[in-house]
Amino acid sequence: MTTAPEAPATYRLIDGKQTAEDIKVEIAAEVAQRKAAGQKTPHLAAILVGHDGGSETYVRNKVLACERVGFDSTLLRYEDDITEAELLAKVEELNQDADIDGFIVQLPLPKHISSEKVIETIRPEKDVDGFHPMNIGRMVAGLPALLPATPSGIVELLRRYGLVTDGKHCVVIGRSNIVGTPVSILLAKNLEPGNCTVTLCHSRTRNLAEITRTADILVAALGRPGFVTADMVRPGAVVIDVGTTRVEDATKKAGWALKGDVNFEEVAPKASYITPVPGGVGPMTIAMLLLNTLRAAKGEVYPR
Ligand code: NAP
Repeated sequence: MTTAPEAPATYRLIDGKQTAEDIKVEIAAEVAQRKAAGQKTPHLAAILVGHDGGSETYVRNKVLACERVGFDSTLLRYEDDITEAELLAKVEELNQDADIDGFIVQLPLPKHISSEKVIETIRPEKDVDGFHPMNIGRMVAGLPALLPATPSGIVELLRRYGLVTDGKHCVVIGRSNIVGTPVSILLAKNLEPGNCTVTLCHSRTRNLAEITRTADILVAALGRPGFVTADMVRPGAVVIDVGTTRVEDATKKAGWALKGDVNFEEVAPKASYITPVPGGVGPMTIAMLLLNTLRAAKGEVYPR
């Protein structure tokens, strides 16, 4: 275990892209072994509704990642005028399909469809996004669960970089159900990594900078590009940037660039470790989704 220095002259990048690659290689090896032993190939399905550019990219990357590790994958696409009842029926079909080990419904959904209803309709044992209340509840209770991918990806980065979390003060900015709240729960658990003292901040938090300056580990998950500036960061802090916002950038072919919630240029020299955007938390999310699918296929959390 390495301890982050108090006042670093240089920072270390937490390379989520490479770490995610390492995890994919490990998964691919296990899948190859399973196939050689005549066991079922893990199968991930994804439902995509509509034509949101970001969602299309995420789903495409998830399907490509399945191919990389030797999973079967199925992409089901629907127009955004699909009714809630029709979508729920599709979810039920996937619940019943014995060949599908896990599936995701890419969010956000059109406004006329309740994401909560859709998520609650997914069978918990196939909920590889880890969003179902059963998986969230099991996570909170410290029971085996399919964990939400982004928070578990953050924990996995801390683990693989050997960063000490025990007794550290972790400040999380953002309390969403998919990132901020679950990562704060995981890091507070009596686990390794874990055992942090966690402060969960949100838009109603007063004196935010005063709080973030006390963080040994700072997780920014609010969706405001460049929000975290150098004055908000303690020298030597570990900084995890979850933000991924598309901002206009005429120098890029696509006309936009992905920006994190941290002002990287200012903050990095003050940090001991920091995740870049892109190439930090984002690739880990996909790797952890694959890991959840493998765990679902193995019946690791909910034995078959
Ligand atoms: P979200 O649902 O919009 O939640 C944002 C949270 O930030 C809310 O809790 C909000 O507080 C808080 N917040 C907003 N402005 C704030 C401010 N000025 N000060 C303090 N807190 C503030 O966002 P999300 O879904 O968690 O996503 C957050 C970011 O992570 C986005 O950029 C998203 O694209 C990115 N993301 C990345 C990945 C990945 O794989 N890398 C995965 C998921 C999300 P209130 O609750 O009070 O409104």
